[in-house]
Amino acid sequence: MDNRQRRGTPDPEGAAGPDRAPGGPGAAPWPAGGLDPAQLDRICLFNLLSASSDTIYFKDLDSRFIRVSRSQADLTGADSPEAMYGHTDFDYFTPEHAANALECEQEIIRTGRPVMDLHELNLSDGNRDLVLSSTKQPLWDFAGRIIGTFGISRDVTARKQAERELLAKTEELDRISRELRTLLDSSPDPMLRVDRELRYTYVNPAAVKLTGVPAHEMLGRTAVELGFPDEYVRGSEALMRRVLTTGTAVDAERNVVLAGSRLFLQSRFVPEYDETGTVAGVLVVSRDLTERKRIEEALADQAVHDPLTRLANRLLLVDRTNRALLRARKPDAPGGVAVLFLDLDRFKVVNDSLGHAAGDALLVEVAARLRAAARRTDLVARFGGDEFAVLTEGLAGTADAALLADRIIRALAEPFHHDGQLLHVSASVGIATGDDPAADAESLLRDADAAMYQVKARNRGGGGYLFFTEPVRARAVSRLAVETALRRAVQRGEFRLVYEPVFALPDRRLVGVEALIRWQHPARGLLAPAEFIEIAEDCGLIVPIGSWVLEEACRTLDGWNRRYGGDWNLPHSGDSGDSGDSGNSAGDGVGAGRVPTMAVNLSVRQISDPAFVDEVDAVLGRYGLDPGQLCMEITETAVHDAPLSASAVLKGLSALGVRIALDDFGTGYSSLRHLRQVSVDIIKIDRMFVSDLGQAGEDRAIVAAVIGMARALGMTTVGEGIETAQQYECLRALGCDRGQGYLMSVPLTAKRFEAEYLAT
Ligand code: C2E
Ligand code: MG
Ligand code: MG
Repeated sequence: MDNRQRRGTPDPEGAAGPDRAPGGPGAAPWPAGGLDPAQLDRICLFNLLSASSDTIYFKDLDSRFIRVSRSQADLTGADSPEAMYGHTDFDYFTPEHAANALECEQEIIRTGRPVMDLHELNLSDGNRDLVLSSTKQPLWDFAGRIIGTFGISRDVTARKQAERELLAKTEELDRISRELRTLLDSSPDPMLRVDRELRYTYVNPAAVKLTGVPAHEMLGRTAVELGFPDEYVRGSEALMRRVLTTGTAVDAERNVVLAGSRLFLQSRFVPEYDETGTVAGVLVVSRDLTERKRIEEALADQAVHDPLTRLANRLLLVDRTNRALLRARKPDAPGGVAVLFLDLDRFKVVNDSLGHAAGDALLVEVAARLRAAARRTDLVARFGGDEFAVLTEGLAGTADAALLADRIIRALAEPFHHDGQLLHVSASVGIATGDDPAADAESLLRDADAAMYQVKARNRGGGGYLFFTEPVRARAVSRLAVETALRRAVQRGEFRLVYEPVFALPDRRLVGVEALIRWQHPARGLLAPAEFIEIAEDCGLIVPIGSWVLEEACRTLDGWNRRYGGDWNLPHSGDSGDSGDSGNSAGDGVGAGRVPTMAVNLSVRQISDPAFVDEVDAVLGRYGLDPGQLCMEITETAVHDAPLSASAVLKGLSALGVRIALDDFGTGYSSLRHLRQVSVDIIKIDRMFVSDLGQAGEDRAIVAAVIGMARALGMTTVGEGIETAQQYECLRALGCDRGQGYLMSVPLTAKRFEAEYLAT
């Protein structure tokens, strides 16, 4: 017996019987309308098969249709349900579907087990998109044998489509939410949300970083519960409550302390609504502007401060001065205003000789001392370089300003320490008071500067202070007038050279001349260098003037060389047989040679330019001069004040064969080592010492020492400004090689010199 018979089967007979009818025994008179049960079965089956929208089909053991619903015939396109009897799925559907169905039905017949909710698709070419949900069952006869199968299929195409769409939507939502999450998590902007109780419901990593509290600790808690700083809690909770009650977003800039650091946050508080439209929470999106704020503030600070010393800069001082002047002009003003302008004397020397780092350190220390010397209410500023200014107000009188200047000068007079070295700088201070009702910051600074300038000129770098007064103004104005006139003089060629003869002391023999400049001023007549050289140096005009002097001196020298030979036909000491003097007699002395020399005075500005060596070389070449005939004089103070590059220039000149003379020796601070470094050939003893010779004094000892030292170093000595025979004799006795001065000759024009000394 096959398993069809072994299986437990329903009891179709009974099921269809009246006792098993719905409603159970004892229900209303049955069947209705006087129909017998068999008839009722047929009516029901007929209606089921003709009206069901689900397709219903009965098949025999070979899966041939034996009964089908109308809807099944509609699906297959058969003319009628009856037309399908005896046909199989292979007659209506794709071979693939038919084969599947056959296999499934044969399995049901074999096992007696139904198949529920089988999804069938791709039934036929005309029903490509159709999806059916089918249930197939064994078809039992009343004897409990399987005689075939039957199935009901429902069209679930629309439901399937809806499901697919829903799935796609869900996936899309998942993707968006994943992306959003990444966005929030990786956002540098702190974001958080709170519910109506102000409990955190979300915090992104940036917010966690800001608060310093891990997310899992924050979630579900309020800022108060988390112990955030009071100031922060008060500020942010007030804003959140406002958003919760008003339902409108709020922007706020907040300066808060969180996790121990002060932060500047720019935040937007946005209401979040639930599905009923009520505000359910607040989303806070912040931007940490701390760094930007810091940079902004630093920039603003930098704009008005000197980066090196942190003192105010000119901009700030001008602004504060103008405000102070306004205050001082009010009836109830606490007192007057003054601006002190100060310039460090000899700062350049420190900077050039010890380097910029030392210079910077010095400036920082100067700034500190100035701050300490000034009152707390004074404003100390640095204008760059070694220029400083102090604004002071509430002055009872000028004496107060003088006191401050005094304090400053004393504070800077103390030596500075650098690398175990003691550095001395002093300050020249100019003071301008704001008494003039027309004064403004710029005019005060200008006046204080002018006064400072005159301190410097007067004390030659020795420090001190001066108030800006009418005489100071007059001098400043005349200075300006000289400067203007000098410019014109350079263009119009108003300069002349005079020549002061230089003699060998032992025998008063002419050994050269010194070229000295004069200005043939159109109104003021012939002016000596004292009237204009310093101004020319200050405004830089000394450079073109110096070039003219060099050219003119060389031109004159060339003329004399041409007319009188390279030795100007001068008698030589050897010729007269006079050899009773020291071995280092002028004629043979170092730097003297046998040729007469032309000495030219140089300014420190000229030797500060490395190109000057080329200029001298070019002039020598142009006139075909023996470099040994040219002597460059540079004052001892100039050498001392000169930048490092200047000694390179002097060395360069020396290398050309040009003699170097140290002028006005004894007025500066040269050390022996320094003299060696700048390759000096000749030392000119300043007139100051010479004028004292003859009268018993210490100067004789100094001159003797200088001569001895120069001789030891192989240098030639020249005594300057010899006016008396006594001075002459004294220098000669001390072994000085050469001399010049009014005793022998005043400076002469080229023509006069030629007539008196050469054309004889
Ligand atoms: P210096 O180079 O020491 O020149 C000597 C100065 O002493 C000259 O003054 C000269 O006329 C003056 N002198 C000479 N013998 C006597 C004397 O017996 N008694 C007195 N009381 N004075 C005497 P000068 O020509 O007025 O020049 C002054 C200074 O100007 C010069 O001093 C020099 O440093 C500077 N100078 C002159 N010409 C030039 C120039 O072309 N360029 C530069 N940069 N400086 C110059
Ligand atoms: Mg000179
Ligand atoms: Mg001199």
